[in-house]
Amino acid sequence: MTAINNALVVGGGAAGSAVAILLAEAGVQVDLVDVKPEPTAIGSGITLQGNALRVLRQLGVWEEVQRNGYAFETLGLRAPDPAGTLIVEMPDVKTGGPDLPATLGMPRPVLARILIDRAVAAGVKIRYRTTFTQLAQDPDGVDVSFSDSSGGRYDLVIGADGIRSWTRRSLDIQLETRAVGMGIWRAFGPRPTSVTRTDLYYGGPCYIAGYCPTGEDSLYAYIVEDAQDRSTLTPAEQLAVLRELSEGYHGPWDDIREQLTDPSRVNYTWFETHLLEAPWNRGRVVLIGDAAHTCPPTLAQGAAQALEDAAVLAELLVDRDTLDQQLWDSFHERRVARATAVVAASNQLAEWQLEHVQGDVQGLIHATADMLSNPA
Ligand SMILES: Cc1cc2nc3c(=O)[nH]c(=O)nc-3n(C[C@H](O)[C@H](O)[C@H](O)COP(=O)(O)OP(=O)(O)OC[C@H]3O[C@@H](n4cnc5c(N)ncnc54)[C@H](O)[C@@H]3O)c2cc1C
Repeated sequence: MTAINNALVVGGGAAGSAVAILLAEAGVQVDLVDVKPEPTAIGSGITLQGNALRVLRQLGVWEEVQRNGYAFETLGLRAPDPAGTLIVEMPDVKTGGPDLPATLGMPRPVLARILIDRAVAAGVKIRYRTTFTQLAQDPDGVDVSFSDSSGGRYDLVIGADGIRSWTRRSLDIQLETRAVGMGIWRAFGPRPTSVTRTDLYYGGPCYIAGYCPTGEDSLYAYIVEDAQDRSTLTPAEQLAVLRELSEGYHGPWDDIREQLTDPSRVNYTWFETHLLEAPWNRGRVVLIGDAAHTCPPTLAQGAAQALEDAAVLAELLVDRDTLDQQLWDSFHERRVARATAVVAASNQLAEWQLEHVQGDVQGLIHATADMLSNPA
């Protein structure tokens, strides 16, 4: 017996596809709707720490992820000097356990495709270009009206619809999403042989510059600056700005810069944060992933936390036979403090940069990773 027989998942990102897969595998009937026209994700690459890989293994996609990504075991800190001097090479904490890599980079659209294919194979019924228009719940279920004029009744609705969650708003939950004050340039391009792991450069002309290999032939590189309005720039101008900012960074960055030539692979976005206090559910509607918590990617933990939310929620729904307050209490006990700690640490790393404070970056990264090494 599972706690629910059917569920609606709103949003097919990391959180939504993961929870949908795990529930469908356990025999729950799952409908998933997503407003976007197709499963491909925007953005260039993604850094997945071991604790994210642990959930991906649980979803049955680890081998495919491994084949399509680039795994590595150390993190470098480099100086923004003319040689790009390597200051320290730290063994990355293996937060997913000893039998998974510490970190793996991969192209975002590939990860999105792998998860959605797995969801379809598990029996999840997916509809794109679709959202809900109304949720009306009573003690026994939720009546849902959809934008395609259809309707349905569900035991549970899972709002996994990201940072500007429509589900959250429809529950009338007031949550301020705050701009942190930083903007990030990201570019996807070829991997030079000098790049075999993530290196971070703190300081220099910008706050942070870094890169992550995403495959034998690809990487994404990023530069973090003061948030500003870059929306009027053409793609060619965006590429020019990114290249100019990167002139302050050397070592492997020199090789990367040479090969960053495709304006269509450059992206600029602001860092934002919010954190929903418990409870994350209102009756039979629950929020997971960015809908409940989001932070600057200074620890590269956003998708990892979204995946952990999904895994814990699915485990409780599958292992218990009643959707009751005890289930919600267990969910919040296992998820809220952990996600809160990640948001706080990620924001702290950004604040040290913004305020030009020499914080213990290494210490905070390690302490958070140690905490994440214990399964959620
Ligand atoms: C610049 C940047 C870099 C990052 N780098 C990393 C990283 O390296 N590693 C990492 O772990 N995390 C990273 N993150 C965070 C990570 O991208 C997010 O935490 C993660 O994508 C959240 O997953 P999610 O499923 O909750 O939401 P999303 O991935 O945003 O998915 C939400 C889904 O809901 C759909 N949707 C939205 N509205 C509706 C609606 N009304 N109805 C139906 N569907 C809807 C969307 O189309 C989307 O498919 C980064 C974030 C940023 C901003």
